[in-house]
Amino acid sequence: MILRRLFFGLAGALMFSALQARSEEPADLSVVHRIKTEAFENSKVMDHEFYLTDVYGPRLTNSPNYKAAGDWVMKRLKEYGLTNVHEEPWGPFGKSWTYSRFSGHMVAPQYQPLIGFPLAWTPGTDGAVQGDAILAPMTTDADLEKFKGKLRGKVVLTMPLKQVNMVLEPLGHRLTDTELAARTQVADPSRLGNPFGRANAAAQQTPEERERQRQFRKKLNQFLKDEGALVVLQYGYNGDGGTVFASEGGSRDPKDPVPPPMVAVTPEHYNRVVRLLQHGIPVKLEFDIKTQFIDAVDSFNVIGEIEGTTKKDEIVMLGAHLDSWHGGTGATDNATGSSVAIEAVRILKSLDLPMARTVRIALWGGEEEGLLGSKAYVKQHFADRETMKPTAEYYKLSAYYNDDTGTGRFRGIGAQGNIQVKPIFEAWLKPFHDLGATTVSAVTSLTARPPGGTDHTSFDYVGLPGFGFMQDPMEYNTRTHHSNMDVYDRVQPGDLMQCSAIMASFVYHTAVRDQMMPRIPMPKPLPKERQSATE
Ligand SMILES: [Zn+2]
Repeated sequence: MILRRLFFGLAGALMFSALQARSEEPADLSVVHRIKTEAFENSKVMDHEFYLTDVYGPRLTNSPNYKAAGDWVMKRLKEYGLTNVHEEPWGPFGKSWTYSRFSGHMVAPQYQPLIGFPLAWTPGTDGAVQGDAILAPMTTDADLEKFKGKLRGKVVLTMPLKQVNMVLEPLGHRLTDTELAARTQVADPSRLGNPFGRANAAAQQTPEERERQRQFRKKLNQFLKDEGALVVLQYGYNGDGGTVFASEGGSRDPKDPVPPPMVAVTPEHYNRVVRLLQHGIPVKLEFDIKTQFIDAVDSFNVIGEIEGTTKKDEIVMLGAHLDSWHGGTGATDNATGSSVAIEAVRILKSLDLPMARTVRIALWGGEEEGLLGSKAYVKQHFADRETMKPTAEYYKLSAYYNDDTGTGRFRGIGAQGNIQVKPIFEAWLKPFHDLGATTVSAVTSLTARPPGGTDHTSFDYVGLPGFGFMQDPMEYNTRTHHSNMDVYDRVQPGDLMQCSAIMASFVYHTAVRDQMMPRIPMPKPLPKERQSATE
């Protein structure tokens, strides 16, 4: 009896595991080995990173640097033997902006050099200019009334004193096993399918509130201009210790008012000026800023291909955004992602692996201003969410893989609510477990959310399989993301090699797979008014 049961139990177990073995998604381990060898022993990823940062950074969309970086990418892709390499236009973007000089100083009551940089889309000064500082925090119409007639020729501090707290946690951080495991869990199932169900406060702001703030900023810019403020001084929205996180002050829309020159400095320097003023001690500041507006033009994405063999009309895409903010050189946001994508196609090309489907790399522009490049591309090539009348190409895209969260190694990938890809991704991650990539997250999410965060969501929004890799945060939010310290030295070479190997392997396996990747159901058309309300 016991023996019989044991026999059946054993046979059952064997049958079950045979079934599992048969149904498991294949990963070609000999190819994975070759990819890893190329990625770690012959890496060029930090060379791509060097050109995109030290040579061409920063890469604010449509600035002369952005164009030069795009041209360099095209040259490199062609050198690697990619075909159909081109800069694909989209637009309109609005005004292009760049800066070529910044210096800031306190000259009285004491001398002190100031750490900071000008905000994008604000003008320069007319050579070196000096002005008295005035503290004028303004958040309401009544504030504007209060400071009317008092700002001419002044350096205007529009923010109150910033509380600076000592940092007791390490600035850099890798995900622990517990944190990684938590990423696979749905924190609150009642939020599933609710596009407004994000936890952070900014996303919970109503569209009306956001619009009210936008309108007030416009009004404030016009007021500061009309009142003849010499320079507007702020601290960055994050950071201390000389790290300044800041982006734009004016607008790229030619219809919006051009504010006076605007500068963000480290909060410690800002606070010194505020404290002196609060004690009735006059402060004189000097600035020398050179910026340039270039007339409204379209922008572009950079595209290149490795042509497929037997199913070349079917496409596997990989990419990252090429553009950056301008305080540093856009090293972790997002020269890292761009370098990894370039390196992945270099690896695949150098191994000369036959791939059935065509592999297409896309480096996007306008990501920082709202995923503009990828949204335009998806609309033009695949489907407009408003009408959901897909093109023929819509049915030919197998998947898009994105890299845009800094220098941390890949720890896994988000399934973007596509439960069918979970076992596939798990099988493809297995050969990378020892390199820290183990986890498939975001398996349950019911409705495609409006595009946000980064570029793969532009694909997901129209029901296309677009995925982003999950990375160790490292110093992203403490030091580098949109800051003056987003520079080459903050990038971890070993991590980027790991990312490149995984990116190449995922693209390879998607390109040789029997079937295209499974999809979520095609979403219904969404009227434009509803779209802007959710973005
Ligand atoms: Zn960014």
